[in-house]
Amino acid sequence: MQNILPALSHVQKRLADAAANAGRADQTVQLIAVSKTFETPDILPVLEAGQRLFGENRVQEAQKKWPGLRKIYNGIELHLIGPLQSNKVEDAVQLFDVIQTLDRPKLATALAREIKKNNAKTLIYVQVNTGREAQKAGILPEDFEGFMRLAKAELGEHVVGLMCIPPVDEDPRPHFHMLRSMAASQHLPHLSMGMSADFEIAIAEGATHVRVGSAIFGTRPKAPIVSA
Ligand SMILES: *Cc1c(COP(=O)(O)O)cnc(C)c1O
Repeated sequence: MQNILPALSHVQKRLADAAANAGRADQTVQLIAVSKTFETPDILPVLEAGQRLFGENRVQEAQKKWPGLRKIYNGIELHLIGPLQSNKVEDAVQLFDVIQTLDRPKLATALAREIKKNNAKTLIYVQVNTGREAQKAGILPEDFEGFMRLAKAELGEHVVGLMCIPPVDEDPRPHFHMLRSMAASQHLPHLSMGMSADFEIAIAEGATHVRVGSAIFGTRPKAPIVSA
């Protein structure tokens, strides 16, 4: 595989090195390959190489790509990492194994209803706006405790983690650190943080899931990171 997909191998090596440096077993960190904007022909070799966790940021785009791929490959785990509109909740629950972007009470209620209706096993992460950015989605740190009470009341055991996207122009480490202590305070085992440029730092700060796009697939043709 080394020669076929050097970019994926390189990311796997970076991940293993970062885990080792943090004194962690590398199986404690899951690599989510972020395939947004890339088409099936770009995704197939990554699946062939054995990668099974993928992230998409748009429900409709994921619906076009993944049902077909799931017929060919077993064990695919799909994560929604972009904002979820209320009118897409039904589709999202049917398609995604993990929804990382719970960010408002109304969405918690809608997700709870759909999960119950579909008897789904969907796992939910709460997105936290650690940098308090106006344009970015996520629960503000000061609202976090109250929101977690509501989310757990609505969704119970489905809520298992937190996710954040630090401000692009800041050192991400304090943001990762903050997210880790928030997760610990709520006994949430999953921590989704770190992207192509900073996932080693996230692993040092306790990430269990890193979301890596361009370092695997190359530069995206269009569509900037959607986070609001
Ligand atoms: C696009 C995206 C990523 C991946 O970003 P890269 O810098 O390409 O690794 C990770 N997380 C979210 C929420 C994204 O939208």
